[in-house]
Amino acid sequence: MKRIVILGSTGSIGTQALSVIEKNRDKFEVYALSAHSNIDLLLKQIKKFKPKKVALYSEIAADRLSKMVKHNGEVKILAGSKGLEDISSDRKADVILVAVTGINGLPSVMNALKNKICVALANKESLVSGGRFVVEQLRVSNGMIIPVDSEHSAIFQLLSKAEKSAVRRVVLTASGGPFRGKSLAQIKNANIKEVLKHPRWNMGKKVSVDSATMVNKAFEMIEAKWLFDLSSDRINVVIHPQAIVHSLIQLVDGSYIAHIGPTDMRAPIAYALSYPERLDNVIRDTHLSELEDITFEKVRYPFNRPLNIARHVIDYDNDMGIVFNAADEVAVELFLQNKISFGDIGKIIEYSIKHFKPSGIKTINDVLLFDMEIKTFIRKYVSERF
Ligand code: NDP
Ligand code: MG
Repeated sequence: MKRIVILGSTGSIGTQALSVIEKNRDKFEVYALSAHSNIDLLLKQIKKFKPKKVALYSEIAADRLSKMVKHNGEVKILAGSKGLEDISSDRKADVILVAVTGINGLPSVMNALKNKICVALANKESLVSGGRFVVEQLRVSNGMIIPVDSEHSAIFQLLSKAEKSAVRRVVLTASGGPFRGKSLAQIKNANIKEVLKHPRWNMGKKVSVDSATMVNKAFEMIEAKWLFDLSSDRINVVIHPQAIVHSLIQLVDGSYIAHIGPTDMRAPIAYALSYPERLDNVIRDTHLSELEDITFEKVRYPFNRPLNIARHVIDYDNDMGIVFNAADEVAVELFLQNKISFGDIGKIIEYSIKHFKPSGIKTINDVLLFDMEIKTFIRKYVSERF
């Protein structure tokens, strides 16, 4: 029986993880859950999965939830960053699924690794901002990260089957998002509804916007750098609209090995939770003839721009990832608040990359402080000029 902690249990990944667990109650026990403030859903999850602990980032929400579960003496309700620290450091857990959005996941990933808890990682932003610290902690703790992101789960599985010296590069597939093939002029004023309408995946808002701008794939390149120790010339990206090939590796003899499966996040989630075992009851059995044609395309302008930033971060300036991530987080937030246009997201990111020069980043705390400084600057900049 594995004891599971889920950070972000009310989100897209978190709820799908709970559906995997529900089907496999004999294998998993939900030890702790966490969210930002969605207490209505958390309350339902508490009743169903009976976790020992629940942490809410919002102190007000935690207070309200405490009152609601007063007669449910078993569960301990924790609040704020201290609460998250508590549940991400609890050594009674076997696996912690980090499925919160944004850099908020970074301290939890570090806590879990320090305490030798296996990390199932959906939160790519923690690697974009603090990858070098995460990888160093992983080494010191002799720890384990199992990727949940579908592309990285695919590559993780493919690499486990190949000789390291035989692998030339990895190829991340990208569906192309809702604006595949469109020009910048055609999409720069796209509204929120159009941006969130992803053709293949049903995901949280932040990662859906990131898919539309292609920043998601740029982040995934950086994620691949840290997870698999690769330089940028060994990480290719190809558009594959059907999202059936979850990623590939190319071998030195020129051949490719692909990971193929239905477009269903429960597959990589289940793999990360059950690793090294595999579960046979999570996704529907499909016949290859049910799948669509498989096609690949090059990434074209303007969608190659974020990928170029990722290459710079990977090869020349890892800490520029803090700027890339912070600028994107705040730009997406402003777009979702209708304060900037869709086209402004890219402009804000590119402006920030030019404006900020990271230096003297020595600890995770430095990363978090720099992240805050960038976000405060951009919010002010936008409120004055947009
Ligand atoms: P959602 O927006 O659907 O869910 C986010 C979750 O995080 C919610 O449970 C939310 O709580 C919680 N949360 C947000 N901020 C905080 C905080 N400060 N402290 C504690 N909890 C917080 O996101 P997704 O599930 O789509 O994505 C989660 C992560 O997984 C992202 O990093 C994303 O890039 C990655 N990912 C997602 C995929 C997908 O298919 N969705 C695919 C691959 C990767 P509340 O509900 O209370 O606000
Ligand atoms: Mg992905």
